[in-house]
Amino acid sequence: MIWSNYHGHSHYCDGKGAIEEYIQEALKQGMETIGISSHAPLPFETLWAMPQERINEYINEIVLLKKKYEGIIQVYTGLEVDFIPDMIGPEHDSIKQLLLDYNVGSVHYVDQFPDGTHFEADGSRQGFVKAIDEIFEGNIQKLVKRYFELVRMMLKTSTPTILGHLDKIKIQNTDGVLFDENAAWYRDEMMHTLEVLSASGIIMEVNTRGLYKKKCDATYPSLWVLKEAFKLGIPVTINSDAHHPRELTGNFEYAASEVKAAGYRVTSHLWNGKWEEKPLG
Ligand SMILES: [Zn+2]
Ligand SMILES: [Zn+2]
Repeated sequence: MIWSNYHGHSHYCDGKGAIEEYIQEALKQGMETIGISSHAPLPFETLWAMPQERINEYINEIVLLKKKYEGIIQVYTGLEVDFIPDMIGPEHDSIKQLLLDYNVGSVHYVDQFPDGTHFEADGSRQGFVKAIDEIFEGNIQKLVKRYFELVRMMLKTSTPTILGHLDKIKIQNTDGVLFDENAAWYRDEMMHTLEVLSASGIIMEVNTRGLYKKKCDATYPSLWVLKEAFKLGIPVTINSDAHHPRELTGNFEYAASEVKAAGYRVTSHLWNGKWEEKPLG
């Protein structure tokens, strides 16, 4: 089985550990390719994004490490880029001008509170409940639908290389109180999003972070979504969204079994600078 991971953070953002520690861990795990994807800078203050003034240092460090590890492990320069309409996205000029090998496009923010604060959909439950009331007229469906609308908008207008944690919004619903993933409206939103994803050719990640952080009992996205994605021919890659080197391949065996159960026999890997499909083993 070939493992790779293209979604990993570092001390440049809210991750722990130096980039080289992730590479060392990747070597220990027998990986032949690794991508680093710290949170790209945002045009407002956050506790987790990389400060704008560190972006060049970040990229230069990866470029040096690429050379240092040439012939030993393939190292790729990435970023996890937020999508916020008219503000930032994978195809924003501030991202396009950087020498990246790829990016992971993710929706974390879903509109703003009346005071202008950006609402983080995978933040605290308290903030989520407040957003239902203050932004979405007390209607959880409106919130969830808007989240998926933003994912589709990103896929169509600010295309990423990899779609990050497609249904991470379910992290707020592990007790099943807020919405039902089997409800027709939710499935419709998901299917509509998968159709857009399929038409785009973008790779979907299967993200294990919720599992090893014990925040969710499934991958992002869920198995039923993976089954539909397989039918639609959407390519997938298994990522851990590591925020510490020890998380680099967290729950990968489980994710691989899910991907196989969905019907896949290959996953996508960045190999000698090109995306290639390799057997799942
Ligand atoms: Zn993310
Ligand atoms: Zn991430």
